[in-house]
Amino acid sequence: MILKLLIGIVIVYVLYKIVSGWNAIAAPSGKNLSPAGEDLVEDPICHTYVPVSDACRLSRAGKTLYFCSRKCLDTFADEQREP
Ligand SMILES: [Zn+2]
Repeated sequence: MILKLLIGIVIVYVLYKIVSGWNAIAAPSGKNLSPAGEDLVEDPICHTYVPVSDACRLSRAGKTLYFCSRKCLDTFADEQREP
């Protein structure tokens, strides 16, 4: 019977809409997250954002600074040494 088939299609369509609506609500919306959901940190030298796990770390005055590369870390260390 054609009517039963149409009702079935409508039910499937409505269920699909509800499920995709839930996914949109459940999706993370943090702007400071990388695609993997990892926190990004700003390099104070070149101002690029790098994932925490990929960053070079330097502890300074109780704070941890993050750099995109060893080169930026060295640049920062050189700047600190100057009077
Ligand atoms: Zn850098």
